[in-house]
Amino acid sequence: MITRLLAAILAILGLLPMTTSAQQPFDYEKTKAEHGVREYTLSKLPARGYDYYKIAENAWFVHDDFENMVFFVTDVGVVVVDPKPDVSPFVLDVIPQVTNKPITHVIYTHHHRDHSQGARLFPNDSVLIASKATADLLAVANDPKRPQPAVVFDHDYVLETGGLRLELKTLGRNWHSQDDMVAWAPQQKILFAIDMFHPDAAPWIHFGESSDPWFAFGLPDLLLKQYDFNFVIVGHERIVGTPEHMKTYQAFIGDMKMTLGGILSSDGYQSAMKEAAGRYSESASHYLYKSGIMTASNVCAQQMIEKWQGRIRNAELNMVENCQTMFMHLAVLDP
Ligand SMILES: [Zn+2]
Repeated sequence: MITRLLAAILAILGLLPMTTSAQQPFDYEKTKAEHGVREYTLSKLPARGYDYYKIAENAWFVHDDFENMVFFVTDVGVVVVDPKPDVSPFVLDVIPQVTNKPITHVIYTHHHRDHSQGARLFPNDSVLIASKATADLLAVANDPKRPQPAVVFDHDYVLETGGLRLELKTLGRNWHSQDDMVAWAPQQKILFAIDMFHPDAAPWIHFGESSDPWFAFGLPDLLLKQYDFNFVIVGHERIVGTPEHMKTYQAFIGDMKMTLGGILSSDGYQSAMKEAAGRYSESASHYLYKSGIMTASNVCAQQMIEKWQGRIRNAELNMVENCQTMFMHLAVLDP
């Protein structure tokens, strides 16, 4: 039996072919166990500042310490999704390591700078694709780093190239920006829902600066029902999102709803509000209203941190603000 060390020595001497991760067949369970877990988030990055791994037979996940991008190698070229300015240079570094095919398509996921300003780094003859909503916002931005897309679609677009099928779709409502869309690669079972949540971590502030929190709260239900995905790409974190991560996020949302519901109907909250009402004059109803929001949010954060510390990373980071966002939408703004 040739040991790994011996094989490596023979490979260096040129007596055995060097196997790189680029040539190894894709193993879903192994990838999930190695790259979809917390340990990977805490592992050290190579000195070059990025790393990459396969998330399907012909799909690659490239990440730095906090952001990621995915590209597909088709029979005729390379399709890049979500051109981030920070990660695109690394993607351009990795592509020639795994294929000599040209980059044919680059897909904008939404107009935000941190997800689009890498677009000008890709070859001029690659086709830029975006939804109409994204194209309109890019036109307003008029930013040379975010060139106008050549292909613009209203609600749905299917990119078929070199054997790859990628279904782009706006959902009618947004969860994060003003121009979100999902992308679905059915053969690879990879779903893109950029900036939707953070795998194995707390949501970013105000549920990821959500443009439509009510829709965002229901999005895990919708996507888990609609797509039988292997991985979900959200653009941030160096671990790849799995269905389990999305279910954890779904449970987090459900638990926060329950927690806030419990607080609002509790005697403690009612008497705190009575006490506050005594402190403010009748013309100060906005002060009283604000005091209600803050009381509920602080108690909610305390209870949620206790329950979620350890289950997700940075549980304490944005909990007050996230409780605040949910309180506003549960108790005040939405049906
Ligand atoms: Zn964004």
